[in-house]
Amino acid sequence: MPTVDTVTVRAPAKVNLHLGVGARRDDGFHDLTTVFHAISLFDEVTVSRSDALTVVVEGDGAADVPVDTSNLAARAVLALAEATGSTPDVAIHVRKGIPVAGGCAGGSADAAAALVGCDALWGLGLSRDELIEIAATLGSDVPFGLHGGTALGTGRGERLTSVLAAGTFSWVLALAEGGLSTPEVYGELDRLRVDGPVTVVSDPSDVLAALRQGSAVQLGKALSNDLQPAAVSLKPELRKLLAVGEDLGALGGVVSGSGPTVAFLGRDAAHATALAAALAGQGVCRTVRVAEGPALGARVVRSL
Ligand code: ATP
Repeated sequence: MPTVDTVTVRAPAKVNLHLGVGARRDDGFHDLTTVFHAISLFDEVTVSRSDALTVVVEGDGAADVPVDTSNLAARAVLALAEATGSTPDVAIHVRKGIPVAGGCAGGSADAAAALVGCDALWGLGLSRDELIEIAATLGSDVPFGLHGGTALGTGRGERLTSVLAAGTFSWVLALAEGGLSTPEVYGELDRLRVDGPVTVVSDPSDVLAALRQGSAVQLGKALSNDLQPAAVSLKPELRKLLAVGEDLGALGGVVSGSGPTVAFLGRDAAHATALAAALAGQGVCRTVRVAEGPALGARVVRSL
């Protein structure tokens, strides 16, 4: 097989169509029941043979992303090298299309992309399941970056089962000014839960039924996120953004993961485009993007 010197991988952002958060566990994580949905906002990660492990990040929000070994893509390269006895000397180039610290799992997408990229660069030929096992050691959302599509996540979100979803859905992502730290949002949720820890995690069955039927109207009504009150408490302007989106005719709106990005559902692609233009004119968010879901998980798009 001819050797390749450089591999580019595209990995999707996610929104959580349902995010049920249980009690804080002894290991500090919360038990989750979540429905992940990959959407067509992508980061591109290129890995190339080099003399040392280096990271370069470009695009919107790049200044807030570390370029040392705390970068999730670099951590993924190191973990894969360790697991397979490879040398982690690669130059990593990340082109951000996913909002940074936006609740869309951009860092996790980069880690998933780096695993797929180095698997190809080093000719390892690992299976998706083998990569997913390494991904789970890197973060709760990394396995889904590989999986893509629509999936039910349990545990910390790392245990995935594919979900039957008919058709495609058209989204408007409203990006807020600044980000939110995921641990801070979970901390705020624990603070707001004045009646003590919850014992039953909310059930995703309405979202699952809407997906099975391919009904955007039903899905819009079923969107839910237990972290939303905590994200709104830390960024009160999200309350107005959610209200304006719904007034403008979105079928539903929900804070994505730990926020602050808000996902609004349109009836179809044309409606989502019109909704995006209307939202952009209201001055309630930094910028908007239109995307479709479900999108594929991390995939090689170029190798040279
Ligand atoms: P979560 O996966 O918890 O929902 P998020 O989507 O809110 O996270 P990310 O964009 O993944 O946010 O970034 C969270 C933090 O992780 C950033 O503030 C950044 O400092 C750090 N980080 C490390 N590596 C990366 C990366 N490759 N891309 C983006 N952020 C990264």
